[in-house]
Amino acid sequence: MTIAIALLTQDLRLHDNPVLHAALRSADEVVPLFVLDPDVEAAGFAAANRRAFLADCLTDLDASLRRIGGRLVLRHGRSAPETARLAAETGAVTVHVAAGVSGFARRREHALRAELGERLHVHDGSLTVAPPGAVTPSGKDHYAVFTPYFRAWQQTARRPVHRAPAVLRTPEGPAGAAVPSVRPDSPGLPPGGESEGRRLWKAYDVDRYAEVHDDLAADSTSRLSPYLHFGCLSATELTARAGDRGGPGAEAFVRQLVWRDFHHQVLAARPRAAWHDYRPKHDGWTADSREAAAWREGRTGFPVVDAGMRQLAHEGWMHNRARLLTASFLTKTLYQDWRPGARHFLDLLVDGDLANNQLNWQWVAGTGTDTRPNRVLNPLTQADRLDPDGAYVRRWVPELAGIPGRAVHRPWSLDRRPEGYPPPLVDPADVSARLRQGRGLDG
Ligand code: FAD
Repeated sequence: MTIAIALLTQDLRLHDNPVLHAALRSADEVVPLFVLDPDVEAAGFAAANRRAFLADCLTDLDASLRRIGGRLVLRHGRSAPETARLAAETGAVTVHVAAGVSGFARRREHALRAELGERLHVHDGSLTVAPPGAVTPSGKDHYAVFTPYFRAWQQTARRPVHRAPAVLRTPEGPAGAAVPSVRPDSPGLPPGGESEGRRLWKAYDVDRYAEVHDDLAADSTSRLSPYLHFGCLSATELTARAGDRGGPGAEAFVRQLVWRDFHHQVLAARPRAAWHDYRPKHDGWTADSREAAAWREGRTGFPVVDAGMRQLAHEGWMHNRARLLTASFLTKTLYQDWRPGARHFLDLLVDGDLANNQLNWQWVAGTGTDTRPNRVLNPLTQADRLDPDGAYVRRWVPELAGIPGRAVHRPWSLDRRPEGYPPPLVDPADVSARLRQGRGLDG
């Protein structure tokens, strides 16, 4: 009887899981293992919202494994020694794990290799559709611009989608800890887990994606990002299903998934870009702690910015367009460093992801991969375009709920100032002028 360990990390699913698939092919019995590693906490990455979502994912995965004859073994400790200990306990001949892109994932892999040597098998087809490094321009280790990456990505061969295993036997014996119960910071956090992720995906009308994905009030994007972040869903499977469906909606949706691959391949090649400028700007950011606090609290006096920040606090999630314009407001209107902004997002986002968060922040701040680093989003014209009726603002900013139509975007123009709502942090008459100073202005 041979035994393999499947060390699960950001792949908390049965469907299309290369790590489980390989472990099952290599042994008669498999121990699916998840390690709650204190180093994640030490790295400042264990936000309460994500820990709560993770707890749901682990509970759901354990239930799914039990239905096919296995179970999840949960351990507390450092990943490498804990895995080696379990390998010694069970006599496992191989250990399978997915390749990651962050500095943390690299260090974990290095430590696992030191403990396990040849018994460790690292699978690079799990986290993204195209493994980082698989699509590169000649002579370089990654693409720095999205459009050529996208074109090259479309030409690359895909691995097949793996079915969920029908049977998985876990040996008797290895004890596991109970899934901890965690109180999230955000009361409106979505439930985690593969079952919920698949339910959402099946119910999602991808055909309408191209038309509605920029409409803040319609809230019609897929909301699959946390399920992708924790690997409850496989980006490879979603891409294949969307490809089978075809049409402009599915194509636009896949293009967004390619942005995810793009940022992952940048971070894999440049792990320092998590906290250092990808393209140094040599610019002096301003540091006004009062303005930064107003931004975090959703009290800038610019309703669409405040709506986004309050959605983030309440749901641990924010619409992509709101992420763009709140990040732009901090870095381009208030001219503050992107790092504290990215940190605040990471503290709350249930999909908070080092590759997607940091590199999107850098894209907005003009230190990243945007080919127009001086691009500025004017919060007022953005509000008129993305929330033309003002419904998104009224949903999230109760002080303004009684103001009809798009007038809600300019409360300072009303005869009576709305009670309890702050005056604008920056003179609105000056916003465009301020933005135009030496930089391009985008509507
Ligand atoms: P959909 O529009 O339905 O898109 C489907 C999937 O494509 C998403 O779930 C996501 O996995 C991927 N995707 C979409 N847009 C992007 C993008 N611009 N970059 C990378 N992947 C994308 N996404 C995260 O997953 N984690 C983050 O921490 C994160 N931080 C961000 C910070 C800023 C400042 C900005 C501008 C964007 C950030 N994004 C992040 C990207 C994007 O906003 C979210 O992925 C998206 O809003 C999630 O909602 P959805 O699942 O409904 O997306």
